[in-house]
Amino acid sequence: MRQKEFEARDIQVKNEASVVVVVWGDGHTSSIPVSRLRGYCPCAVCQGHDATGVKFIENSCKAIFDAQLVGRYAIHFKFADAHDTGIFRWDTLRKLDPAEVERWGPPETSAKS
Ligand SMILES: [Zn+2]
Repeated sequence: MRQKEFEARDIQVKNEASVVVVVWGDGHTSSIPVSRLRGYCPCAVCQGHDATGVKFIENSCKAIFDAQLVGRYAIHFKFADAHDTGIFRWDTLRKLDPAEVERWGPPETSAKS
């Protein structure tokens, strides 16, 4: 059974503010900077294949060109720097909320679990 806090109810890309705003099943709203999403992109190109931790990719990405749902569990972002292999599962996305760093701890890779 899906946990409400990892159930995205609404996702809006706000390029004018360089953030992605997500409303979650538990009522929480996350506002996540695009550069943070790009930096913690979970794809193999960015993170490599060893799952020993997540590295932050330095970037100056401020916009997302396209966002598409992947089934009912994830979203695929095409970043303005032309990087387009990042698929963020809901739990990965939620844990990137800068307002909840203390709740979730450091970002994890999607590859785990
Ligand atoms: Zn990536």
